[in-house]
Amino acid sequence: MSGPNDNYDPKQVAALSAESLDAIVADALAAFSAASSSAALKEARLAHAGEKSPIALANREIGALPPAARKDAGQRMGAARGRINAALAERQAAVEAAELEQALASEAVDVTLPVALAPQGAIHPITGLIDLMSDVFVAMGWEIAEGPEAEAEWLNFDALNISADHPARGESDTLFVASADGEGDSHVVMRTHTSPVQIRSLLDRELPVYVVCPGKVYRADEFDATHVPVFHQIEGLCVDKGITMAHLKGTLDHLAKEMFGDIRTRFRPNYFPFTEPSAEYDLECFVCHGASVGNPDAPCKTCRSEGWIEWGGCGVVNPRVLKAAGVDSSEYSGFAFGMGIERTLMFRNNAEDMRDMVEGDVRFARMLKGEAR
Ligand SMILES: [Zn+2]
Repeated sequence: MSGPNDNYDPKQVAALSAESLDAIVADALAAFSAASSSAALKEARLAHAGEKSPIALANREIGALPPAARKDAGQRMGAARGRINAALAERQAAVEAAELEQALASEAVDVTLPVALAPQGAIHPITGLIDLMSDVFVAMGWEIAEGPEAEAEWLNFDALNISADHPARGESDTLFVASADGEGDSHVVMRTHTSPVQIRSLLDRELPVYVVCPGKVYRADEFDATHVPVFHQIEGLCVDKGITMAHLKGTLDHLAKEMFGDIRTRFRPNYFPFTEPSAEYDLECFVCHGASVGNPDAPCKTCRSEGWIEWGGCGVVNPRVLKAAGVDSSEYSGFAFGMGIERTLMFRNNAEDMRDMVEGDVRFARMLKGEAR
């Protein structure tokens, strides 16, 4: 490499001759064409257009030329560098386009291939059925009311005309909540029915009141095929002027129709402390439709050959209950009813074991998909 020299003869600067520059350009162009990937092209760029490339080194020689010779050499150099840069840019674009195409081809997704879907959950049939039953009442303009599961003993029993010596108050049925210090009585129970929500609704609302109260209730029961210690009820209460047993029958028949389609129903006299008169509400057996009655050759397990199955309890609200909630029973009357959600679910699906309903197996929920809208 020649150093700066004032007496420099441009013809002696071989690196800047037209032939030499053509050779440098030809080398560079050949190297660029040979590079088939971005990485290879980067190497070729550094070797043929970088700071230490032949063209860059030749460029430095211009400064060493006498001023008169610089113009020619500069023009040749400019043209040579222009060709190298243009070739480099062209090759760069081609290589990038090819690489993009290759990436698109190799990363293409076949949308027709089957995929493994993550398993989906399902609404629990109990929840679905509560929604379904509540909707029947919401459609008639009723409200949904809720209350606490740990309830004041007074609301769970006394206000509902269940006196202190009533069997339902005994330890065998009711789960009592221990007092904070473990001494004495907390007067709090795990509610044994959703009925205390009726009292709460009467205390909280202006009359008339039309509410349904779905929710969990607790009993000190064994856990077996037909009993669970925690289950669900839906309770209804209407208090208005001029309400009679006929309104109760019409309302329950509408609910029965929505739940089971066309089905015969009946009232059977019974006793509840919080209603007077009181009745059990029965459905015609959906398995034998009464054909098993008096027919020992074709007994029915579902209705025990009685032709009817009990769905829930109901009646005209006892005036003493209205009085406990501060309602004037000479002006207002009402009806109330309640039924088990699990029982309704069993009837709708002909299911036999209540334990399936509390064990949270998603397969059971999927099987009873119809309970969720
Ligand atoms: Zn039957």
